[in-house]
Amino acid sequence: MRKVKVLIVGAGPAGIAAGLQLKKEGVESLLVDRARFPRDKICGDAISGKVVELLRKLDPSILSGLEKSPIQCASWGVTFVAPNGKALEIPFKRDYQKGDHHPPGFISKRFDFDHFMLERARERGLEVLEAFDAQHFERRNGNWEIRSADGQCIEAGLLIFANGAHSRFARQAGIRKEKKHYCAGVRAYFKGVEYAHPGHFIELHFSRSFLPGYFWIFPLPGGLFNVGVGMRSDKVSRKKIHLRERMMQMIKEDKNLKKRFARAELLGKIDGYGLPLGSKKRRISGEAYLLAGDAAALIDPFTGEGIGNAMLSGVEAAKVAAEAVRSGHFEADFMQQYDENVYRKLGRELQLSYKMQQLVNYPWLFNLVVNRASKSETLRNTISAMFEDIDLRARLKKPGFYRDLLFK
Ligand SMILES: Cc1cc2nc3c(=O)[nH]c(=O)nc-3n(C[C@H](O)[C@H](O)[C@H](O)COP(=O)(O)OP(=O)(O)OC[C@H]3O[C@@H](n4cnc5c(N)ncnc54)[C@H](O)[C@@H]3O)c2cc1C
Repeated sequence: MRKVKVLIVGAGPAGIAAGLQLKKEGVESLLVDRARFPRDKICGDAISGKVVELLRKLDPSILSGLEKSPIQCASWGVTFVAPNGKALEIPFKRDYQKGDHHPPGFISKRFDFDHFMLERARERGLEVLEAFDAQHFERRNGNWEIRSADGQCIEAGLLIFANGAHSRFARQAGIRKEKKHYCAGVRAYFKGVEYAHPGHFIELHFSRSFLPGYFWIFPLPGGLFNVGVGMRSDKVSRKKIHLRERMMQMIKEDKNLKKRFARAELLGKIDGYGLPLGSKKRRISGEAYLLAGDAAALIDPFTGEGIGNAMLSGVEAAKVAAEAVRSGHFEADFMQQYDENVYRKLGRELQLSYKMQQLVNYPWLFNLVVNRASKSETLRNTISAMFEDIDLRARLKKPGFYRDLLFK
C-alpha cells in the first residue's frame, strides 16, 4: 500500500493550489483525480484578478507562462447590461489601453486551463495520479485508508478534499445543498456571436425577463464564446425555470441578444452544473481533514466566481496541513484554524457579495446605478476600483454612497 503524509483529492484549481503550496512548504503530498487530463469542467471559464494575484504569489513563472499561452484570451474588463438594456463598461484596470502587458484577468476553457496548471505543477515536482476515483475513506490507527473505485489503496496522515461541488465526503461532513445558498448554471460554446470589444470584456446581461438570474457572454480564443445563464436554485425551483430552454429562448427573443446571435452556431450541447455559494459560514475541517474550493462551498454569491476562492482555500489548507504534519497535531480543534483563516480572508467579502446579490431584486436601483455611471466618470472609476479593492465594495452598503450617487 502506498503511504503519504498528505493526500489531496481532486486536481481542479483548489487541489492544484494546495499541491503547489505543500511543495513550497516541503511537505510530501500526492494529488489524485478520478479523471484523465485534459478533462472538461462546466464553468464560465473566466479567470479573475484574484486568480492572477494568487498565481503571482504562488509561482510567478506559471503566471507569465499563462500570459504567453495561446489557450487564453486576456480580458480587461466587464460590461454590465442593466434590465433597461443600457450597457455599462467597467475596465478592471484604469488606462488599460496604455500599453500594459499584464492583463488583470483571462478567459480560458477549463479543459485547457486545468490541464495547463496540472502540467506546470508536475514540472515543479508535484506527484499526480490520474484515474484514481477516491470512493472509500476509513480512519484506522490514526491514519486514513483511501480506496479507489477499482480497488487501489493509499494510506495518508491527512486529507485535503478538493473534489468539487459533488463531493460525497463534504456532504457527509455537513456541507449540505441548501437551495438558498446554491446556484444552478448552464453553459455552452458558440461561434459566430457578434462581438467587437478590443479589450475582450466579459459581458453580464441582467435581462428583465430573467431576473434575478443573469446571462453571460465570455469571449475565448479562436473566435469561440462561452455563453451561459445562472440563477439561485431556490428561485429556479419557485419559478419552475428550465435553464437550458430559457437560455435558448433569450438568444432568440431578447431585444439585445437576438441580433448578436443572428449568425451564431451552437457547438455541442448545453451542460449544467451546481455552484455551492459561500453565503453561509460552515465548518470546513475536522479530525485530519480539510475541505477546499467547491467542496467547502466558497463561490462568490454575487459574481458566481469560484476559481479564485478555490485556489485561496487550497493554499490555506496546505499551510495548515503543513503545520499539522510538522507538529503531529491532527485533532479537529487544531484543524479549525483553517476555517478561521479562510473566513478571515473571505468572510467579509462573501457577506458583502451576498448583500449585493439582492441588488438584482431591485431592477430600478440597478438601472439607476447604470444610468448614473454611464454619465459619470468618477462613478465608473469607483466601480472599476471595486474590482481591486474590497473597501470600495463596502461603500456600496452605506446609504451615503447612494446619496452621493443621486445628488453629486
Ligand atoms: C456553470 C458554471 C459557471 C461558472 N463560471 C465561473 C467563472 O466564469 N469563473 C469562476 O471563477 N468560477 C466559475 N464557476 C465556479 C468554478 O467552476 C468552481 O468554483 C471551481 O471549478 C472550483 O474548483 P475546485 O477545485 O474546488 O473544484 P473542481 O474544479 O470541480 O475540481 C474538482 C476535481 O475533483 C475531481 N474529483 C471529483 N470527485 C473525485 C473523486 N471521488 N476522486 C478523485 N477526484 C475526484 C474532479 O475530476 C475534478 O478534477 C462556474 C461554475 C459553474 C457550474
